[in-house]
Amino acid sequence: MSHVFHRHCTHLPPLVDSGQGVYLYDKSGKAYLDASGGAAVSSLGHAHPVITAAVKQQLDKIAYAHTSFFTNEPAEQLATALCEQAPKGLEKVYFGCGGSEAVEAALKLARQYHLERGESQREVFVGRLQSYHGNTLGALAVGGNAWRKALFEPLLIPAQHIAPCYAYRYREDGESLADYGLRAANLLEEKLLETGPERVVAFIAEPVVGATAGAITAAPGYFQRIREICDRYGVLLILDEVMCGMGRTGTLFACEQEGIAPDILITAKGLGAGYQPIAAMLVQQKVFDAVASGSGFFQHGHTYMAHATACAAALAVQKVIKDERLLDQVAARSDYLFQGLKIRFEDHPHVGEIRGRGLFIGIELVADKADKTPFAARLPLHQWIKDEAFAAGLICYPMAGTIDGKTGHHVLLAPPFIISEAQCDELLDKLGRALEAGFAKALAQGGSAA
Ligand code: PLP
Repeated sequence: MSHVFHRHCTHLPPLVDSGQGVYLYDKSGKAYLDASGGAAVSSLGHAHPVITAAVKQQLDKIAYAHTSFFTNEPAEQLATALCEQAPKGLEKVYFGCGGSEAVEAALKLARQYHLERGESQREVFVGRLQSYHGNTLGALAVGGNAWRKALFEPLLIPAQHIAPCYAYRYREDGESLADYGLRAANLLEEKLLETGPERVVAFIAEPVVGATAGAITAAPGYFQRIREICDRYGVLLILDEVMCGMGRTGTLFACEQEGIAPDILITAKGLGAGYQPIAAMLVQQKVFDAVASGSGFFQHGHTYMAHATACAAALAVQKVIKDERLLDQVAARSDYLFQGLKIRFEDHPHVGEIRGRGLFIGIELVADKADKTPFAARLPLHQWIKDEAFAAGLICYPMAGTIDGKTGHHVLLAPPFIISEAQCDELLDKLGRALEAGFAKALAQGGSAA
């Protein structure tokens, strides 16, 4: 009997024993190709010697010292490294332990920014449907992941939501991608006017939507229009790069490819690449200055913020990304994988869309390709695919509720940047078999029939 309170009360997962490169090994010795890096975390694969050495070295020096007494070298160096590469104006970094924690910090900092400037009436956040920002109450409130929020609705802070920029579902016939992007972005202005723009603290979005909807990239121009709207109404722009940042889409920061800089940027998973739990909130100088010249401190803080060992691991991750030219590797393997996916699945009757950027890839599954009808929401197609893949030694990240939190299914892939072409082929073979097995079960149980 296990005393661990596992994710699922009735399911005991196998014991993981070790990891090496893109593979994980369980206690029985079975190998699993980690094609989703867990949940887009393990971007350097497992047991990378440079990272484990950096962690060990830091542990021998100083594992942890509380930030109310000391700063530490790895935190200072990591903050500098991130700011040197970040979009313009992001000059200060606040470190936490995970994505949700960093999102909470961002929501509170955004509110405090307005308070420092005498705009205490700003108390509503705007987010997007089909987005996920974490499982703590603030992050859940601004997120748009319906099934994760449902139980806790009465406890959530005020938040409004607009539709995502989701061309596969919402672009109209004959509408250009750019026109659709503009129309989707203008929903923010409509929402601000409806809410009263002077009441809104911030708009939060994932530059590339991850777990909830499966690697949806925005239409060209969408985020530039979003930036304009935020500026016009004095609303802060928070970009959540917890999943899509740190090289996952081919650039260190995902928003680089949108040509904008947010007021606050959050990054996590790939930052420590799984070697240590760490998250970072990057802040525009003007936001920092408002706090510094106002009350002089951010009314926040956690025991483990800027943890020396976690920062040492993340600093080593930055070094490896640079030394091993991993952003080039992301681009090369992305081309290879997208090509392989297209050859195998583009014409598949149950593959609606293959999308994403870099090594952040989504496959939306449909019962009917022509009219994009999803499989029935009652069918656990995602679970069947996950189980089939796992049994075959492949870890991927299938999910349900792609379209509206209830209907739709997709598979998310986020393999380590170090994956080889041969391992991509193994991924494609195993994924193909898992998909076919899942589709067969779904069709046997009625396909799209309610
Ligand atoms: N934001 C995004 C975009 C995420 O994908 C996640 C987790 O999947 C989070 C925030 C929450 O991060 P964590 O699970 O580390 O709290």
